[in-house]
Amino acid sequence: MSQGDEWKWRACNAEKAIDSTNDGYWVLNADGRFMDVNPGYCRMVGYSRDEVMAMSIADFEAVATMPQIQAQILRIIQKGHARFETRHRHRNGHWIDLEITVTGVDQRYLVAFLRDISERKAADLALRELTRAAEAANQAKSDFLANMSHEIRTPMNGVIGLTDLLLETPLESDQLEYLTMVQESAKSLMAILNDMLDFSKMEAGKLSLEAALFSPAAVISESVRAMSKWAEKKGLALVCHIDPDTPSQVCGDAGRFGQILLNLCDNAIKFTTCGNVTVRARVTAVEGGAQELHLSVSDTGIGIAHDQQQSIFQAFSQADNSATRRFGGTGLGLAICTKLVALMGGRIWVTSEPGRGSAFYFTVRVNLLPAGQHPAQ
Ligand code: ADP
Repeated sequence: MSQGDEWKWRACNAEKAIDSTNDGYWVLNADGRFMDVNPGYCRMVGYSRDEVMAMSIADFEAVATMPQIQAQILRIIQKGHARFETRHRHRNGHWIDLEITVTGVDQRYLVAFLRDISERKAADLALRELTRAAEAANQAKSDFLANMSHEIRTPMNGVIGLTDLLLETPLESDQLEYLTMVQESAKSLMAILNDMLDFSKMEAGKLSLEAALFSPAAVISESVRAMSKWAEKKGLALVCHIDPDTPSQVCGDAGRFGQILLNLCDNAIKFTTCGNVTVRARVTAVEGGAQELHLSVSDTGIGIAHDQQQSIFQAFSQADNSATRRFGGTGLGLAICTKLVALMGGRIWVTSEPGRGSAFYFTVRVNLLPAGQHPAQ
């Protein structure tokens, strides 16, 4: 085929494609008047070819004003091409969302292909609206959870306080036993409420840290002491090793630091029936004025299946075994710890062998303040 024949052949094919496609096609001069239009565009806007040919682009364009259209035409003629989204007006008044690909030819006119993207736009809008509604519902749920947890904590504090007072009065042995059970149940319920409150704060991005000087060794010892009674009751050895290099004072959130450790110790004791639970603390890295505390809580308990060692750090996630069901729990503790550790510039992870035990590790970054300098609040 000669080159001339090949061009003719291609032009003929292009013409057939342009006439049969559902996409729009037109050629526009620099004044915005139509020089050519295909049946696809005529169907899109609801006018006959003769009607379109007698009109200008400004009669269809629904977004840009005439000066903007003229500036756009000039820009495309100079630049050579453009792709953008706009809206054209249909004969019956409704708008059609279009994606337009325009090419400037000979610095004199524009050739454009137009695709009707109304359905895609409507789907995008519906999806955005659904996402907005889902986010609003989720926010409402989080607010409700936070309010309820807060409201229930007040009477629970009353129950715990009065039970403590009652336990100090002379009691029959079975009264003492029942009341101690009331106290334990009330404290468990309080712990669940605290987790729910923390979790709803976390969801709302309102979980924040305080900064004050504290002794890591004192917080660790206090946490271990708080757990020792329970460990003893279960016949477990609770051991604590604090590296002597651990700084005596650091700046950070002592309460939240202790909360992470307590949660890990609580789990370790909960999921261990014999053997020991060991807490270790050391300093791992020094960078500028900051140090990294490295803590581990290891146990000789039931362990965690390999495929569950990641998911347990997600909210409401519990390794599915009978022990978890037996010992209960909300499945929020590790998710809260993960968030707290991240806020403290550290990370948390686990190694575990099912049936042999688990070791949870976490690091937190703490600042060492020069002597005499007060911590920033
Ligand atoms: P909860 O203990 O309230 O269920 P957590 O988020 O603290 O929630 O823990 C999630 C799950 O991870 C637990 O339900 C348990 O299946 C598993 N897990 C956590 N710590 C241990 C541990 N020391 N030994 C065995 N399993 C553990």
